[in-house]
Amino acid sequence: MKGEPKIVRGTPLDRATVKKKQGFAVVYTPKLRYAWDTGKAISRYLAELKRGRLIARRCRKCDRVMIPPRMFCERCFRPTDDWVYVKDTGRVNSFSLCYVSWDVRRLKRPEIPAVIEIDGALPGMGILHVLKGVQPKRVRIGMRVKAVWKPSSRRTGSITDIAYWVPLPLRGSKV
Ligand SMILES: [Zn+2]
Repeated sequence: MKGEPKIVRGTPLDRATVKKKQGFAVVYTPKLRYAWDTGKAISRYLAELKRGRLIARRCRKCDRVMIPPRMFCERCFRPTDDWVYVKDTGRVNSFSLCYVSWDVRRLKRPEIPAVIEIDGALPGMGILHVLKGVQPKRVRIGMRVKAVWKPSSRRTGSITDIAYWVPLPLRGSKV
């Protein structure tokens, strides 16, 4: 009928045809070379990590300081305004005690992934990272923490340039 798509039925191949390689086949090795761009905001963020610094973006309209940085404010629907260095200290927003590793091994001592609200990022913006140097039972929401950086010679421009986060000792208390 006019206007309707024409249906072309294929011909199924039986096993014998496939085995004898009588079917039509195309062998093609695609060239899968590509470049991956992290974008303007994350490129700067990663470059600063390599230097041992944390950088964020400020939106003057909603007065937020965003980390990881982005060039566009998803609240105000406008470009963000300024680069802002923030501290490598913060507080634990949330955490988990993981007794299973990424490759599904049982762990005696848990890994402690945590969302850390970075000092200077607003309001309470944070990044996901990992805590060490603390007894699992002592981890608390609100706990003050500080980044432990890899030596500069081993940094690659990655979030793993921060090796992990450790509790900041409070006066008169032991962690
Ligand atoms: Zn905004």
